[in-house]
Amino acid sequence: MLSVHQIALDPNNKQRTFFAKSAGTARFSYNWALARWKEQYTAGNKPSEVSLRRELNAIKKEEYPWMLEAGKCAPQQAIKNLGTAFNRFFKKQGGYPKFKKKGEHDSFRCDNGPAKKGADAVQIKGRKIKIPRLGWVRMREPLRFQGQIKSATVSLRANRWYVSVTVETSEIMNLPSKNQGAVGIDLGSHHLATLSTGKKFEAPKPYKALLSKLKRIQRHVSRKKKGSANRKKEVFKLQKLHARIADLRSECLHQLSCKFTNDFHFIGLEDLNVKGMMSNHCLARAIADLGFYEFRRQLEYKGKRKGSEVVVINRWFPSSKKCSACKKVNNDLQLFERTWECPNCGVTHDRDINAAINILEEAASSAVSACGEGSAGFVHTDKVKLPFVKQEPNNKSHYAQVL
Ligand SMILES: [Zn+2]
Repeated sequence: MLSVHQIALDPNNKQRTFFAKSAGTARFSYNWALARWKEQYTAGNKPSEVSLRRELNAIKKEEYPWMLEAGKCAPQQAIKNLGTAFNRFFKKQGGYPKFKKKGEHDSFRCDNGPAKKGADAVQIKGRKIKIPRLGWVRMREPLRFQGQIKSATVSLRANRWYVSVTVETSEIMNLPSKNQGAVGIDLGSHHLATLSTGKKFEAPKPYKALLSKLKRIQRHVSRKKKGSANRKKEVFKLQKLHARIADLRSECLHQLSCKFTNDFHFIGLEDLNVKGMMSNHCLARAIADLGFYEFRRQLEYKGKRKGSEVVVINRWFPSSKKCSACKKVNNDLQLFERTWECPNCGVTHDRDINAAINILEEAASSAVSACGEGSAGFVHTDKVKLPFVKQEPNNKSHYAQVL
């Protein structure tokens, strides 16, 4: 499987210049190819990234000699990226590709194709990475994964350069000894995550403070004159803060998804109806901030890597309103009620823990029924392997313990 590790770089001035030039070349090639694509399409031809790459290669020496400085990789990979963007568009997974602007997602990619060896290839030794045509650049930390390096994308974020290294790793890696047991996770706006074991996890505290700082700086920016040096300064501050907030969020989600996939080999999760919840104003902010989709994505790929199963249950399952003791659904339950008493059996529930227990139960039963009868009413992505266990009697007793 492919794993990606993003590492901050420590380039010197010469290397910074090379990065900026390469990112500029990549952007130019992407935009050039997109314009040609549109021209050819209107003329009734069928454009493709392969033909466009050939076309650019043939003319760049005469027409754009400055492109040669950045090497072959940056323009080639940029046009390949355009091909991917069009593929996504054709499959209705993304919008029509747009022209790239300077200063927005500046990046370029170096690819280790099968024929690349020696000087042309991306290599890593300890805390250094070798970028073709440039040489060795210092990294802030060593590469986390072992395996063959497939490609490296160098990108700029808030005035700092990063490299994302894609590595071909073995299917199951660093399988921890303690990943046993099953858990249901309720993702909420009140607590970031509540487990069926009763444990609750909060969003990191500095986060809120940074959000109010963000508002303040946004105000500063809007007061400064457009095009002024002072506005530029404030915009730069804003970018840095955005990056810091994104880092914090990502750190928090990574820590949690790592912990959960380390500790449990079966994880039940609810497919949140994010669109429906977004219309509810109070929840909207918290949900957009905490990135539920990202969290789910992390659980799924880390689970796959560590050999644990992630099952996502249907969003219409009444996880909050069902009593986990007597299974009766309490339709009168309001959103503000954090604890409630079941009118049927009288058990008092913590809203989130009760939901987490229900999620685990539903996920476990849908996974078991998937072994026997095929998928009956549960949602999963194709990234997750199913069924999660062979149907053996002792597997069932394992869940009986947890439930
Ligand atoms: Zn009850």
